[in-house]
Amino acid sequence: MEHPENESQYIGLTVNSGVAQPPSVNPYMKARKRKPLPTPGEMVERILKGDVTTLSRAVTLVESINPDHEAIAQEVIEKCLPHSGNSRRIGITGVPGAGKSTSIDVFGLHVLRDGGKLAVLAIDPSSERTKGSILGDKTRMEKLSVHPDAFIRPSPSAGSLGGVARKTRETIVLCEAAGFNNIFVETVGVGQSETAVHSMVDFFLLIQLAGTGDELQGIKRGIMEMADGIVINKADGDNIDRARLAQAQFRSALHLFPPTTSGWMPEVLTYSGYYELGIAEVWEMIDRYFEFVKANGYFERKRQQQARYWMQETIQTRLLNNFYNDPEVKERLAVLEQEVLANRLSSFVAAGDILDYYFKHK
Ligand code: GDP
Repeated sequence: MEHPENESQYIGLTVNSGVAQPPSVNPYMKARKRKPLPTPGEMVERILKGDVTTLSRAVTLVESINPDHEAIAQEVIEKCLPHSGNSRRIGITGVPGAGKSTSIDVFGLHVLRDGGKLAVLAIDPSSERTKGSILGDKTRMEKLSVHPDAFIRPSPSAGSLGGVARKTRETIVLCEAAGFNNIFVETVGVGQSETAVHSMVDFFLLIQLAGTGDELQGIKRGIMEMADGIVINKADGDNIDRARLAQAQFRSALHLFPPTTSGWMPEVLTYSGYYELGIAEVWEMIDRYFEFVKANGYFERKRQQQARYWMQETIQTRLLNNFYNDPEVKERLAVLEQEVLANRLSSFVAAGDILDYYFKHK
């Protein structure tokens, strides 16, 4: 096309025609096919051989909200169950900044020195908000993330705390079937996620800091009661004395708590994750715990209780979902709520009404 700027009045200016632009999509590229999913049986076979790629894939299915994926995941889990259980499950909690990532990195390397394999999982109920960044970033554990015997998986991000916890619990089964004999489950020590972690681990480690002034206050009391070991991090440099003081305070506070059901007296130690001081001592404590609870039968008992807890938890979730996802229930519920709000119906009559409907039609 002739450009108007090339007319004689615009002397000195020449505009050349453009050249055809290449397409932004390569026309020669073949559409990439997604690898078809192996059958549940094939997946299990590979998981049992320790194939981490398949393990990752199975965990993704566990985390999926697609009902087809869920069905496959359940089948894989069921087949893996007989091969699970042979591990030490250790929960690790502490407020953000307590040094969880730094510590897990060195604890992990310490554990792997004796051989075996380590899976680091996480429960982060806030990950919806932060898009999983708190516990999701692999690079937080620099050494472990490149270790061939470590498998790091960020927190499942979708759903309620209960849902996230259940997925982590199922992931433990898959990891154990794949031969991971050490499982760390990390959580941020700020809410109810500790209770969820506590319900799936054998040993619960609480990482604390000295000198924050709130060691023995508020919410942490509940967490302290769950802890099998309290470790005070950053006991290095001019912080050593403060760490020792905190240790003494925690020790005397623990004496005021009722005895634990395991019969184990929680220990309080100081260490430095960053400077790698006192790491072996922390691990010796954990070894002592496992010896103790395996000898007195508590280890097995607790695992059985946990299995029962997760069975009940699954029943409750399924029932609730089944009820609330029923289209007719949804409709009736909306109407009945209005009736209750307008004081035309009591809460109990309304609840009875809708439950009667549900039980009759289901
Ligand atoms: P997280 O939020 O609990 O995972 O904590 P991080 O592991 O990310 O640590 C928070 C900060 O504390 C980082 O700047 C670490 O370098 C620092 N830190 C962790 N462990 C130690 C330690 O043992 N001593 C000292 N002085 N600093 C530490």
